[in-house]
Amino acid sequence: MDRTLASEAGNRGSTPLEGTMENNIKIQKNISLKKYSTFGIGGITELFFLAKKPEDVVSAVLWAKEKKIPVKIFAGGSNVFFEKDRFKELLVCVRGGKIFRNKNKYIIDSGVSLDLVVKKSLYGGYSGLESLTAIPGTIGGAVFGNAGAYGHSISEVVNRVQVFDGKRVFWIRDDECGFGYRDSLFKRKNLIILRAEILLKKDKNGTALCASKKIRSIRNKKYPPTLKCPGSLFKNVLIKNISKNSIKKIDPSKIIEGKIPAGYLLESVGAKGMCVGGMRVAEYHGNLFINNGRATPKNVNTITSLLKKRVKAKFNIDLEEEIIRF
Ligand SMILES: Cc1cc2nc3c(=O)[nH]c(=O)nc-3n(C[C@H](O)[C@H](O)[C@H](O)COP(=O)(O)OP(=O)(O)OC[C@H]3O[C@@H](n4cnc5c(N)ncnc54)[C@H](O)[C@@H]3O)c2cc1C
Repeated sequence: MDRTLASEAGNRGSTPLEGTMENNIKIQKNISLKKYSTFGIGGITELFFLAKKPEDVVSAVLWAKEKKIPVKIFAGGSNVFFEKDRFKELLVCVRGGKIFRNKNKYIIDSGVSLDLVVKKSLYGGYSGLESLTAIPGTIGGAVFGNAGAYGHSISEVVNRVQVFDGKRVFWIRDDECGFGYRDSLFKRKNLIILRAEILLKKDKNGTALCASKKIRSIRNKKYPPTLKCPGSLFKNVLIKNISKNSIKKIDPSKIIEGKIPAGYLLESVGAKGMCVGGMRVAEYHGNLFINNGRATPKNVNTITSLLKKRVKAKFNIDLEEEIIRF
C-alpha cells in the first residue's frame, strides 16, 4: 500500500474499521473456479468466499488477515485466467451490491454488473456509459482495468473510487486513480475497490440510448453468450510505445486513435483459425481466443507464446496481455 496515498486519504476523512465481523464469513472449500471465469478455465481454490456487498469484502479480508491467509480478489471473472491447478489463498469473488442515485451522480457498489449500470443510467435518461454497453463484468473490474470500447473508457465518468487497503476505507479522486489505456493505479497498488462514484450527463433526445442499442446488437453477434473467452486477450498497441521501424511495417489505415489493434498484428501472423488443443483463435478476429470447453492452461500458454513470438519476429513489437493471470 502506498503510504502517501493512505495518509492523504486519511486527511480527507478515512474510516477506521471495527472488528472482524467474522459471523458474516461463510467460507466455501474446494471450489472449482471454472464456472467463475468466462474463459471456462480454472483449477480448484481451497478457500472461496462470495462477497455480495462491499462490507462482506472488508470482513473477508480482515478474517483472512487475522488467520494470515493471503487473499486474491476477482469479480465477474471476464478478464481473468486462472492458470494454476490449485489455489491456497482465499479467493474472494465480488458479485452484487447496490446502486445509489442522486440526480446525475451514481454511487455503485463494486460488485454490481457494469451492463446493469449502463442500462439503468440510459433508461434513466443519462448518457456517458453507452460505449461500454454489453461489456461483461462488474463496476470494480471495469475501474481496475479502465474498461472501454468505441474510443471511450470508464475513467471518463469516474469521479472518485472508494477503496480498502487492508486497514482503512477511503475515497480517492479520479485524478489519483492513474487511469490510462486499460490501466489504473489499482493494477499496481494493493487496493480493493469497494464503490465508484460516477457523474453522467443528460441524454438529450435519447441519442445515447440509441447508440447503446446499436452497440449491443453488434456485440451480441461478436460475442454470443455461450462463448468461452476472456474478451480481447492482448491489449492494442500504443503507437507512442513502439519504434519508428516498427511503425513503418504497419498499414497506416489500421492505426486507430493512436493504437494498432492487436487483432491486426495477430491476423498478420496467421492467428485466425489457429488451434492448439482446446484453444482456437476465432476465424473472424485475431485477438479472440476461444476455449472449446476442453482447453487447458498449457494450451493457452502455448498458443499465446507462439503468437507473441511471431508478432515480435515480424513487427518487433512485444504484445502485452490484457487478461489478468491468477
Ligand atoms: C465477451 C467479452 C467481451 C469483452 N469486451 C471488453 C471490451 O470491449 N472492453 C474492455 O475493456 N474489456 C472487455 N472485456 C474484458 C472484461 O469484461 C473487462 O475487463 C471487465 O471490466 C472485467 O470485469 P470483471 O468484474 O469481470 O473483473 P475480473 O475479470 O473478475 O477481474 C479482473 C481484474 O480486476 C480485479 N478486480 C475485480 N474487482 C475488483 C475489486 N473490487 N477491487 C480490486 N480489484 C478488482 C481482479 O483482481 C482482476 O485482476 C470483455 C470480456 C469478455 C468475456
